[in-house]
Amino acid sequence: MTRLIFLGPPGAGKGTQAKQLSKSCEVPHISTGDILRAAVKAKTELGQKAEGYMNAGELVPDELILNLIRERLNQADTAKGWLLDGFPRNVEQAEFLNNLLDEIEQSCDFIINLEVPDDALVERMLERGRVDDKEEVIRNRLEVYREQTEPLIAFYEGQQLLRSVDGAQSMKQVTEALQEIVTCDAVV
Ligand code: AMP
Repeated sequence: MTRLIFLGPPGAGKGTQAKQLSKSCEVPHISTGDILRAAVKAKTELGQKAEGYMNAGELVPDELILNLIRERLNQADTAKGWLLDGFPRNVEQAEFLNNLLDEIEQSCDFIINLEVPDDALVERMLERGRVDDKEEVIRNRLEVYREQTEPLIAFYEGQQLLRSVDGAQSMKQVTEALQEIVTCDAVV
């Protein structure tokens, strides 16, 4: 069983690392950002409601996200575990997740906090070139992260499940550091 939450600022490499681990541990990578981007592309009602917030680097309102996570974690492919990337993003979402996990009788193994200094983050995001990766939007996303998401570090520290990893290392080094923390039992 592998159940992990990836925390860390935008551009820290959460998606890249979560994707790799998802393959090696054979558990779904659940990225709320990817789900929202797909909804925007498909012009669904969710996508239309979310697009403006995303383009401005703001969080989309919790009411658009919470049910989506409840439905996703109730799907059959999560029986072997899951990797959450981009959720929770604020204390309300973290509290919701705790309640949801109690309800479905699951628990999270670790919260992985990928730490990267701001300069490196901006550089990485500019290289990525996503629609919401323009410099002023990036700056806002970092600000939103500091204000709303960073408090989750203290929130999870209290639960003693937090593991910090230096995300400024090379991709390979980060992967290795993660492998030391996460025992993935997909091959068993
Ligand atoms: P990400 O790909 O995780 O960087 O997310 C891209 C954008 O999607 C964010 O800047 C937010 O606008 C939105 N988003 C993704 N996940 C969440 C979430 N859990 N809560 C609110 N907004 C989110």
